[in-house]
Amino acid sequence: MKRYLAQCGLYCGACSSMLLHDKAMGDNELMDFQVEYQDSPCGGCASGVNPDCEFIICNQAHGTQCCAFCAEFPCPMIIKFSQDEWEHHIDVIDNLHRIKEIGIDAWLAEQKQQWSCPQCGSRTHWYQSKCCDCGATWACRYK
Ligand code: SF4
Ligand SMILES: [Zn+2]
Repeated sequence: MKRYLAQCGLYCGACSSMLLHDKAMGDNELMDFQVEYQDSPCGGCASGVNPDCEFIICNQAHGTQCCAFCAEFPCPMIIKFSQDEWEHHIDVIDNLHRIKEIGIDAWLAEQKQQWSCPQCGSRTHWYQSKCCDCGATWACRYK
């Protein structure tokens, strides 16, 4: 689903705010989903919730669907973003190279698989290390 692609190369489908949003919208797979910290539902970057996002504005100016298809990629702005205080941002450069290589749809399918519980297949978020459905545990990618 393209709504899980953010212009900067993040996979919104593994954002806890998007998971809370999808749960509120009635996604049966997420009825047991919960986060242990305060977070608010978000419809994802592709839904237009952040019209002031520098990556949305810049991609509009370049006529590109995401930074992967920009002639200036990887530009200083996306490199700086990948090195900020949010650990999951470190993956955007690799994500965007991968999108260039295999296309958006195949990348979204890969991401869906990557961010699913290895035991039961339930959706998980970037900083999760225990499945809300089956209780399986794994090493959090970013901690
Ligand atoms: S200039 Fe940088 S931030 Fe802007 S669209 Fe291109 S790669 Fe993305
Ligand atoms: Zn599970």
